[in-house]
Amino acid sequence: MSNTLLEIQDLNVYYGKSHALKGVSLSIQEGEIYGVIGPNGAGKTTMLNAVAGFLDYEGSISYAGRDLAGQPSQEIVESGLIYCTEDRDLFPYFSVHENLLMGAQFRDDKAAVQDDLDMVYDLFPRLDERREQEAETMSGGEQQMLAVGRALMSDPDMLMLDEPTLGLAPVIIEDIGEALETLQQEEGLTILLAEQNSTFALNHADRLSLIETGEIELSGPHDEFTDNDYVREAYVGVH
Ligand code: ATP
Repeated sequence: MSNTLLEIQDLNVYYGKSHALKGVSLSIQEGEIYGVIGPNGAGKTTMLNAVAGFLDYEGSISYAGRDLAGQPSQEIVESGLIYCTEDRDLFPYFSVHENLLMGAQFRDDKAAVQDDLDMVYDLFPRLDERREQEAETMSGGEQQMLAVGRALMSDPDMLMLDEPTLGLAPVIIEDIGEALETLQQEEGLTILLAEQNSTFALNHADRLSLIETGEIELSGPHDEFTDNDYVREAYVGVH
């Protein structure tokens, strides 16, 4: 039996009069890669921002059995749920190594931090080769790897990634997909992936939801998505 790690129930978010999320519900099991796909402006980022504690909302969000309502973002991070935003939020003038260490700044166990550094450099050899390079001089793909690496340095149980493949070359996208699967299989990480790149999400997610204009249109296991005619025609370009 798998356990629910993140549970979103009847989530509503308003920006002024605009109703951006309309009763969104989904639950993510421990150890799975969960994809949320949908077009530009559908509400994917809004959903992640609500989970991360950046927005007011109606409805309920619980993580590891704890209600997240009213919890400050920092407490949510400390409970093991880490968010890599679309902007990546790196320290541009810090080196790769310094950025990674910043991810571990609230951890005391130096040996465990060193183990995680080794794990990140193993996972992303491109970062290992560029330890002293300033983050702002890295390519988009390398910066994305660094953002994921820095998130891993806080020793999370669950990663939320917003558009990790946006603007990246296909070969780098593949590297990132492989890294996510390695993290799932070898580190037991749970991953929530919001993507406009439906193909990437379908390639790597165990279960998915499709969100359009603030509403979930379909949720289910990977095969249900790849077999669904509407998803294939509208989002994968297969007729
Ligand atoms: P993208 O893939 O382009 O990032 P998305 O699915 O993540 O899209 P959101 O960014 O969540 O979509 O946006 C959902 C809707 O809410 C859009 O109509 C957007 O214009 C609106 N919206 C997002 N942020 C704000 C804000 N701060 N103020 C007002 N409206 C907003």
